[in-house]
Amino acid sequence: LNRRLAEFGTTIFAEMSALATRTGAINLGQGFPDTDGPEAVREAAVRALRDGRGNQYPPGPGVPELRHAVAEHQQRFHGLHYDPETEVLVTAGATEAVAAALLGLVEPGDEVVALEPYYDSYAASIAMAGGTRVPVTLRPHAPTGTYRLDLDELRDAVTDRTRLLLLNTPHNPTGTVLSRDELAAIAELCVERDLLAVTDEVYEHLVFDGEHLPLAGFPGMRERTVTISSSGKSFSFTGWKVGWVTATPALVTAVRTAKQYLTYVSAGPFQYAVAEALALPDSYYTELREGLRARRDLLADGLREAGFGVFTPAGTYFITTDIRPLGTSDGVSFCLSLPERAGVVAVPTQVFYDHAEAGAPYVRFAFCKKEEVLTEAVSRLRTLA
Ligand code: PMP
Ligand code: GLN
Repeated sequence: LNRRLAEFGTTIFAEMSALATRTGAINLGQGFPDTDGPEAVREAAVRALRDGRGNQYPPGPGVPELRHAVAEHQQRFHGLHYDPETEVLVTAGATEAVAAALLGLVEPGDEVVALEPYYDSYAASIAMAGGTRVPVTLRPHAPTGTYRLDLDELRDAVTDRTRLLLLNTPHNPTGTVLSRDELAAIAELCVERDLLAVTDEVYEHLVFDGEHLPLAGFPGMRERTVTISSSGKSFSFTGWKVGWVTATPALVTAVRTAKQYLTYVSAGPFQYAVAEALALPDSYYTELREGLRARRDLLADGLREAGFGVFTPAGTYFITTDIRPLGTSDGVSFCLSLPERAGVVAVPTQVFYDHAEAGAPYVRFAFCKKEEVLTEAVSRLRTLA
C-alpha cells in the first residue's frame, strides 16, 4: 500500500456489515434500505436488459435518456438549468463522482476543506488526488439536539492553498441540512476566495425538516459548483451504483477526464431504468420521504427511551446518538460489543473524523429499515439501560 493510502484500512461499512452477518445482529450500521425501490423501475431495468439496451458499453458521459432525465430533474425540483449534452455526467455512484471530481480538479498539495464528520470516502479520495484535507468540525449542540456549522471556523479554514470546498448536505452522519443563510454565507465565501465547490447531495429528497437547497442555486455558484447525486438514496437501489454530476461544461470535462480512466462507463441497463425513475411523479418522492419520516420518529423515540442522547436528523436516513448517558464515551468499543450485548449493529461516528476525540462518544444508527425491524431493534436496545 502506498503512502497516500497507508492510513486507510477496510471501510467501516464493510467491517460492520461483516460483523452483522457473523453475529446475526440487526444491521443498523451500513446505510442501505431493506426494501428495494419501485417495482416499475426494476421492470424498466429488466426491459432494458432484455431489449439489449446498455448491455454493451454505453456512451462515456452516460446514455442520453439518463442525461436528459437528470437535467429535467434539476429543473423540476431545483429550478436549475443544465444542458444534458455538455453539463451532465453519469458516474458509478456518487462515490466515483466525488473521487473523479477531486482527481480532476485538485493539484497535489491543494487544500480541500470538508465538514467533519465526513462520509468515509472523502478522506481517501482527497488523499488519492494528492490533496490535503482540512476538516471543519460540525459541533453537537445538545439543547437543540442538532449539529451546527461555525461559519467563522469555515472562513478561517480557507487559505491561499484552498482549491475547493467539499460539502455534503443533507449531511451524513449528523443529519444536518444546511440552511439558506448558511449556504448563502458559504457561497459568498467561495466567490470572495475564488473557490470551487463540490457538493454531495445524495440525500436531496430525504429532508424532513426545512428544505434542501442546492448550493449551485446561490449567486455566483452555478459556474463554480460540481453537484453530485445518486439513485442509491433517491430510489433505494444502492447496488446499482448509478450516480451523476451536473456542472458547467468545463467542470464536467474535468470530472469526465478522470472518470474515463477509472471506470470509463458502468451500469448500462440500469442507466435506462434510472432515467425512468427520475421521471416518477411527485407523489413517489413524497411517499419516500414521509415513509422515512415515520421511521425516523420511531427509531428516535425508541433510542431516547433506551437512554441514548438523540440528535434528531433534519435529513438523511441516519440518527446520531450520544452514548454517554449509557455510561460510556467510547463509541468504538460500544459498537464492537453491541451485537453481543443487544443484537444490533451500529457505526461509531469517530471513524468519520480526523479529530477522533470529537467523535468518540457518538454512534450512528440507520433507519432505512422496515418498521418491524426497527421496533425489534429498539426493544433489544432497551435492555442496555
Ligand atoms: N455520499 C454520501 C454522503 C453517502 O452517504 C453515500 C453512501 N451512500 C455516498 C456518497 C455513496 O453513494 P453511492 O452509493 O451512489 O456511491
Ligand atoms: N453511505 C452508506 C453509509 O453511510 C454506505 C455506503 C458504503 O457502504 N460505502 O452507511
